[in-house]
Amino acid sequence: MLAYKTLKLSIKSLREFAKKRLPDETLIELDERDECPLEIVRDMCSPDKLGIQLLFIPEEFGGMGGGTFDVYCICEEMARIDLGIATSVLATFLGSDPIMVGATPEQKKVWLSRIADEGLLFAYGATEPEAGSDLGALRTTAEPVVKDGRTVGYNINGNKQWISNGGVADAYTVLANTPSGPSWFIVEKGAKGFTHDEPENKHGIRLSNTAALAFTDVYVDANRLIGGVEGQGLNQAQAVFGYTRLMVAAFGLGAGWAALERAIPYSTKRIQAGSPLSEKQGYTHKLILPHVARLEAARAYVEETAQRIDAGEGSLNTEGAIAKYMATEAGNQAAEASIQALGGYGYTHEYLVEKISRDVRITTIYEGTSEIMEMTISRDRWQSHLKTRGQHYHDCARELEALHARHPNVGANVAALAHHALAEVMEKARVARLTRFQHILLRLGEWIAYAESAGSLARRAVLFAENKLNEKANRRFDGAGIAALSRIFAREAALKVAEEGLRWIAGAGGVNDAEMSTFETGLQLPAIHRAPAGLISDMDYVADVLYARVAKPAVAA
Ligand SMILES: Cc1cc2nc3c(=O)[nH]c(=O)nc-3n(C[C@H](O)[C@H](O)[C@H](O)COP(=O)(O)OP(=O)(O)OC[C@H]3O[C@@H](n4cnc5c(N)ncnc54)[C@H](O)[C@@H]3O)c2cc1C
Repeated sequence: MLAYKTLKLSIKSLREFAKKRLPDETLIELDERDECPLEIVRDMCSPDKLGIQLLFIPEEFGGMGGGTFDVYCICEEMARIDLGIATSVLATFLGSDPIMVGATPEQKKVWLSRIADEGLLFAYGATEPEAGSDLGALRTTAEPVVKDGRTVGYNINGNKQWISNGGVADAYTVLANTPSGPSWFIVEKGAKGFTHDEPENKHGIRLSNTAALAFTDVYVDANRLIGGVEGQGLNQAQAVFGYTRLMVAAFGLGAGWAALERAIPYSTKRIQAGSPLSEKQGYTHKLILPHVARLEAARAYVEETAQRIDAGEGSLNTEGAIAKYMATEAGNQAAEASIQALGGYGYTHEYLVEKISRDVRITTIYEGTSEIMEMTISRDRWQSHLKTRGQHYHDCARELEALHARHPNVGANVAALAHHALAEVMEKARVARLTRFQHILLRLGEWIAYAESAGSLARRAVLFAENKLNEKANRRFDGAGIAALSRIFAREAALKVAEEGLRWIAGAGGVNDAEMSTFETGLQLPAIHRAPAGLISDMDYVADVLYARVAKPAVAA
């Protein structure tokens, strides 16, 4: 893990690099020309220049050995600059992940050292024309080439689609079916029989090169099979999902905030009906505040998960899915609202919010779509519900109630209501066997993500109050700000879980007239309906913090 000072220095260098090489006019021009600025990407990755790749390479291979929390901070910062460029850098992170988790010591030494020393750009080739969310439908094959009874290499045949850095990478990690199942291979640029298409003409992240790949009898030596054992590919991909999804979650946070950071100052200068837009509650409380609350709830979840991964709690795939789901959905909504916040100007290229909105759109699609995240979350937490005989979320609620007893102003009591309601909805779904409806299963994923994020934000407010927040944590808001945000978000989460839960449980025929009133009582609807008291004044407070209208203004991130 990086020292706090080193992380701060890296972020500072990244900001300075962006200021010099990627000012707004350059971003607009490159976006309009649909061009990946390869020289800039290479300079970012080159050890003699910015060397951003060094951050995630372990020290023993010449890198800086950054941890998950460090990588989250850097990914958010890159996304604030440009999500296309951030994707180009991410492709190397992703491309080298199978090596990081599954390669033999010799393979790690060769490839991770080359990334550190030469700034090698990688691409991560999993998706195929027929295999997107369902990688089990993979068709690319790697046929063993056997000599004297020994596998000396593989012939790779097939196609990959939508591969970031596909047309510009120096090396590719490619998922292909061997006789023993999916496996990762390293293929170098220029290999005989390997070609890529022209870059895709995309809706957003136009500064990132995305291309289809084709493999026709591409021969690789056996030492290019990552880990040296066939059939480990899906496990190797799974092993880092928690970590890689956090990177994309950070992209959602960075892009969402980049859009809001354009809308907020704009609204202080734009005078309509005699006063700045920033002074109009109907503007701030619709177009700014709800997005700030959702982004910060997602941030709380991202930071908590990153810290747990760094503490060795495992790959935390489900937590990574929740973080990605919440942060990327929030980032999208924030960018979309920022267009509205700038009115006609928001709709033009010049003000960049429409570009950010097009760019951030990809984050709910790549590295697992939002719907796949909902399914992942739901399936895993369903098991927790069953194993604890329906007590899992009641237990979480009780922990939040204990927190509320110690810190009565952080919204933990309302977050607890969300958890209790969730436990009731899940139990109803179990009794009536409603997860046979895929829609219910996926909606459960959404409610789980909201409830858990509300819990996380309340815990973050407590950490702040007790002076225990990670020193690397984002400090845009002080303790009072985080507590107000937590109360705002917890109310949204509790209402969502209870009311949408009721709607869909009833909609799927899970509750009859006779059972309805008991179900409503279990959901604690009256308490949830009373919880919004004070919402407007909390939103007023956060608006004052955002617009530096309180005595103690927001601290710069
Ligand atoms: C710009 C860009 C860059 C990318 N970079 C890379 C890269 O570097 N490497 C790489 O390997 N891939 C990359 N991808 C591919 C990306 O990961 C896939 O697009 C993504 O996983 C979704 O797959 P798909 O496009 O085939 O959509 P599909 O899987 O066909 O999904 C289409 C829709 O159906 C939904 N859906 C799918 N399955 C289900 C289900 N079982 N139940 C309910 N709904 C479902 C999805 O959520 C989605 O809304 C990139 C894609 C883009 C657009």
